Amino acid sequence: MPKKPTKEKKIKVIIFDNNGVLTTNDSEDGYNKVAEFLEVETHVLKPVWSGELAQALDEGKITCDDFLKNVMSMVGAEKDLDDFRSFYLGRYVQKHEVRDFAKRIGNDFEIALLTNFGDGFHEFNKRWKLEEIFEEDKIFLSCDMKMRKPNDDIFLSALESLGRKPEEAVFIDDNHDNIDTAGRLGMATILFESLEQVEKDLQNILQYDYA
Ligand SMILES: [Mg+2]
Repeated sequence: MPKKPTKEKKIKVIIFDNNGVLTTNDSEDGYNKVAEFLEVETHVLKPVWSGELAQALDEGKITCDDFLKNVMSMVGAEKDLDDFRSFYLGRYVQKHEVRDFAKRIGNDFEIALLTNFGDGFHEFNKRWKLEEIFEEDKIFLSCDMKMRKPNDDIFLSALESLGRKPEEAVFIDDNHDNIDTAGRLGMATILFESLEQVEKDLQNILQYDYA
């Protein structure tokens, strides 16, 4: 019997977001907690915390310490910088079940991390050791790349480093804008809501791919 030609699988790499996917979500509650820590009103903090300063931090234009110092001066708070930094980085709590899932997926696929994060990532990562799951050259940090999601360039640059085309990638993120860009560029996308839903969506994408 002649062997059926086997169709080559299209999906080669699964790319994970960090904040809100591998860690707990930075939700409205996050603003309240930071505001509480700084002893200011949430509505005063929010535009400062999520505005241009945050973009500059993501793009590596300012350091984590500069970001925190600027936030304090703009909202009129006076806390010890080391305490504030520990508090800020401590807010990211890793979801072990998602970490285990990524590790499992990593047995069958190339996996990568693409995260908007300032240079505080390195201190954050002393606890979480993401290099135990993702190979070091497959951890893409916005502050190192001087680009940030949801802009096209950071996705294209990560794919180029991986040597992959958009259609060879699945991108998992909890942010609609990031998902929109990835989808527009031709990647298969999964908007993270829960691990169960991600597993189901990924199975569907791969089933279609293997058909
Ligand atoms: Mg996120």
